[in-house]
Amino acid sequence: MAIIKVQKGTKDILPSEMSVWHFMEEKANEIFTKYGAKEIRTPIFEATELFARGVGDTTDIVNKEMYTFEKSERSLTLRPENTAGVVRSFIENGMHRLSAPVKLWYKGPMFRYERPQAGRQRQFHQVGIEVFGIKQATCDAEVILMAVNYLKALGLNDLSVELNSLGCPTCREEFKTKLKAVIKPYLNDLCPDCQARFEKNPLRLLDCKVEECKEIYAKPEIQEVIQSDFICEDCANHFNELKKYLNELNINYSINKLLVRGLDYYNRTVFEIKSNNLGSQNAVCGGGRYDSLIKNLGGEDTPAVGFAMGMERLASLIGEKQDNRTTAFVVSNDSLEAIKLAEELRQEGISCEFDLTNKKFTKQLEKASKVAKYALILGEDEIKSNQVTVKNLDTSEQKTVSREFAKNLFS
Ligand code: ATP
Ligand code: MG
Repeated sequence: MAIIKVQKGTKDILPSEMSVWHFMEEKANEIFTKYGAKEIRTPIFEATELFARGVGDTTDIVNKEMYTFEKSERSLTLRPENTAGVVRSFIENGMHRLSAPVKLWYKGPMFRYERPQAGRQRQFHQVGIEVFGIKQATCDAEVILMAVNYLKALGLNDLSVELNSLGCPTCREEFKTKLKAVIKPYLNDLCPDCQARFEKNPLRLLDCKVEECKEIYAKPEIQEVIQSDFICEDCANHFNELKKYLNELNINYSINKLLVRGLDYYNRTVFEIKSNNLGSQNAVCGGGRYDSLIKNLGGEDTPAVGFAMGMERLASLIGEKQDNRTTAFVVSNDSLEAIKLAEELRQEGISCEFDLTNKKFTKQLEKASKVAKYALILGEDEIKSNQVTVKNLDTSEQKTVSREFAKNLFS
């Protein structure tokens, strides 16, 4: 019979990879909790309308990438990102009444109908933060700090932070007008996506990946507009303050005027964190300020800043560094003594296995060296003297110690 295969753009996360995933999840909890953030879990599917309004119906995500289906005459969509869902929950649960800032973090699967390639899947995972209620740049700085420190905690260093300010709806409107005017003569030479973006979402022109378009946007008269400081005084002050905090905190960043982060709802701060060790899909984190989204989705006017990170991309950077092995493996011909010692260690929080099939001693030792960091050898002598021989399976060093002492070795 034909075997049924995993769907294109989706992957099993196999037991051999799981320690990396647990590591990412545990570090997220540990680091974000230090900043006072609380975890939230929202449903995997939501009303399609939420994403159309929340992500913006001029974006690729909403136009091309959503998994949408009908059930009981309702249009539902598998979430392509989690900001809209978290905002819906924030509004629905009256979280604006909580004392600001309200800091929420999440992790989980997202779904986008994209062309699968290295670093790009149709079901992928994100871990992210949303902070509600603060308009000052201190909050933008803290959100960037959370991202940077989380990545540091994962042991990832070869990363660069890119920063830009998109200004507010007022100053951005002027910029859009200027940008359109200078690009208009080339309109017919742009890719079909850019031709559609030109009216609907001109900022998005700047992050087009098509070579021909990039060449056009590199023309001096267009660059002059892109590189100009178009943001108004208030927005400039906000941006300068953010930069001051980052400088004082020794967070390295560069300004990238092409960074626009497609979504309509961003204003002022946008940022991305890129890895120097990934191929073309090198963005591990995208974020920014979205002060108008909560009101647009029917909530009280509430400023907010957040980010999302792609966990598959993080996992591939963390790579093999994680040790997947059980801590200890009891090697003994006496399975009753073995199970007792294994249980004692587990009670102390130490992961431990033993041979369930009563194989020969040497076979057990071979098995131990495949799955564990230490072999705990319980021979007749050890059992009599209430001792155990601890063998480091990496270095082959071994010594015989009391059982109590052995437990302390690992805890
Ligand atoms: P990209 O430019 O790579 O498409 P994006 O702007 O669509 O990114 P966001 O919506 O900001 O990405 O999502 C934040 C992060 O989620 C990205 O930086 C990336 O690490 C990850 N990500 C986004 N789409 C995918 C995908 N299809 N597969 C795997 N990871 C993804
Ligand atoms: Mg994308």
